[in-house]
Amino acid sequence: RRFSIGLTGGIGSGKTTIANMFAGYGAAIVDTDLIAHELTCPQGLAMPAILSRFGAQFINPDGAMNRQRMREHVFSNPDARHQLEQILHPLIRQQTEQAAQTTPGLYLIFVVPLLTESGNWRQRVDRILVIDCDEQTQIQRVIQRNHLSQQQVIAIMHAQATRQQRAEVADDIIFNDGDLHLIRQHVFELHRKYLQLAGIPPD
Ligand code: ATP
Repeated sequence: RRFSIGLTGGIGSGKTTIANMFAGYGAAIVDTDLIAHELTCPQGLAMPAILSRFGAQFINPDGAMNRQRMREHVFSNPDARHQLEQILHPLIRQQTEQAAQTTPGLYLIFVVPLLTESGNWRQRVDRILVIDCDEQTQIQRVIQRNHLSQQQVIAIMHAQATRQQRAEVADDIIFNDGDLHLIRQHVFELHRKYLQLAGIPPD
């Protein structure tokens, strides 16, 4: 099995940005958020179960899940949330393992937003890389990118692990705030370290 790293961090911390840098050095990236999203797109593998469990009012005309409506529904309804997770989680696991086997690259990086919150994930990877950044920076980035209010972003952050909790499970931490040139340098150093841990000679 290929050497694998679980990459995590809070909303807007820069997981995708940093994963793309590792991809540039030859890592295989498997993004579980992207996989979850694909499952609920038109013709997504989760759509038949979602239709039969939740009904047509949660499906858009194009066949995708109505994310906004589902978000609101499960937000106020733990049973529904649990049912949705029972549909999605096994499919995410299955698609993730498939992608892990078929994505070429020197070593594997799983991008998992809620890795700290999930004991299963921590057992699946050899190492955990946390992308950390200042909470104020997170809030600013997400407001700009998703056009959410400050309150909405803070509510999402409250539902996630804290910086402290992530730091406790981390083997490596990248502080992704400020100078992208320095951050890229840190990514390269970690890349060299991961090659070494994976037993791959650097070229
Ligand atoms: P999410 O969990 O919401 O998917 P993420 O952790 O994957 O977010 P990114 O999408 O990589 O985070 O970054 C969030 C936003 O912040 C993006 O618009 C990105 O361009 C910007 N960003 C990321 N890192 C930096 C940085 N070091 N300096 C400035 N902007 C950055």
